Amino acid sequence: MWMSTFARFALPALQRGTSATACRALRACRRPGPAAAPLPACPTAAHARGQQTLGSASLPVAHHSVRHARALDEERLIEVEWEDGGHSLYPFTWLRDNCQCPRCTLQSAQARMLLLTDLDIHTGVDAVEVTNDNKVSIVWPDQHVSVFDTEWLKKRCFSPAARQAMQEELFLNERYYWDSTLRIPTADYQEVLQDDKAALAWLLALRRVGIVYLKGAPAEQGQVARLAERIGYLRLTFYGPTWQVQDKPDANNVAYTSGKLSQHTDYPALHFAPGVQFLHCINQAAQGGESEVVDGFHMAGLLQREEPEAFRLLSQLHVDFTDTGTDYCDFMLQSKKSIIDVDSEGRVVRVNYNNATRDSVLDAPLHQVQPFYRALRAYVDIMNRPENVVTYRMEPGDIVTFDNWRLLHGRRSYVSRPDRLRHLEGAYLDWDEVMSRLRILRKAVGEAL
Ligand SMILES: [Zn+2]
Repeated sequence: MWMSTFARFALPALQRGTSATACRALRACRRPGPAAAPLPACPTAAHARGQQTLGSASLPVAHHSVRHARALDEERLIEVEWEDGGHSLYPFTWLRDNCQCPRCTLQSAQARMLLLTDLDIHTGVDAVEVTNDNKVSIVWPDQHVSVFDTEWLKKRCFSPAARQAMQEELFLNERYYWDSTLRIPTADYQEVLQDDKAALAWLLALRRVGIVYLKGAPAEQGQVARLAERIGYLRLTFYGPTWQVQDKPDANNVAYTSGKLSQHTDYPALHFAPGVQFLHCINQAAQGGESEVVDGFHMAGLLQREEPEAFRLLSQLHVDFTDTGTDYCDFMLQSKKSIIDVDSEGRVVRVNYNNATRDSVLDAPLHQVQPFYRALRAYVDIMNRPENVVTYRMEPGDIVTFDNWRLLHGRRSYVSRPDRLRHLEGAYLDWDEVMSRLRILRKAVGEAL
């Protein structure tokens, strides 16, 4: 079958969603040593196995040629027989809808110009043939001609395996789950800014592992903004384009104190919470202030196995969050979301939890209140197990980048001293922009090989 090339090489032994296999995959590529792993060590386990380089992992490797193509008029399908013996089926309507000719597709935007109202969704086919340059040519009843590139067709095969491979190539939804033994993937800040391969490795690891450490940034403000510009643009929120995490008088956020922060995701009070977070250490406290992270998806998987009722409640009940104050401008936010978001197939896709902004308003029937607390406590207890928590201490010049839809992060309390002010600068991005840059880098690095 086409494909799985990418999935197989880039994600050995990984199963989507549930954690057991993923955990094993990650452990298998862990090496003993200090706290940080050099970048592609874990995220591209295939690299360590010597099967495939990072850059070529995303490329369609084989060239697919067509042996034969014919119309199955009764089923209204074109059957393509590949040189390797495989077959693919394509519905007439879908082919006509996706004609790549300049009348049907605006070449400069790669966008469809054919109107749905001009599409005959019951169209037949007059003739189909394989051209001399191995493309599939179709003549429609109105004598319009569509010519399809074979690689293009192969990628869009409707078999479950091909569809899954294509979705993985587009969205990289496979995840490496981890626990306290994670060695956080690490890259060099300047290299990520300057070198496309380094930037690609960074973003691939950010997607799959959920956290990447960058070292070597100047210990001054403005670095998270530079990093965001490497990708696209910052996500503006009520805390400003970037924000300063410091011990502040009359703090408008619990983060702006020297107290302990329990594990949380940022900004569940926004219905569309920021997908990615950057935190740059400009000054560290003399004592305390260590950072803690857990893999929220992995923790949700553990909860589902250990206490399925608690998982069900946290994925169904919509909890109110609130945030009120003044910063970039004044704000009075309210949102409702499940603490564990699952998609239509039951996979965990987002965690929304910040105990500080969880509202006292709880829109649940009386009989669900106590079970809700039991369920939330069970999830938090799993997150707090030492075997699940990764602890690290940021030093000036370090930037941590992480998936805010997946990781929960916290901070130990610290001693605030006027001569040694702890100062982190933070910024948000969204996953759409990060994934967009990741796809562009993958293409650029692939083409440069
Ligand atoms: Zn056309």
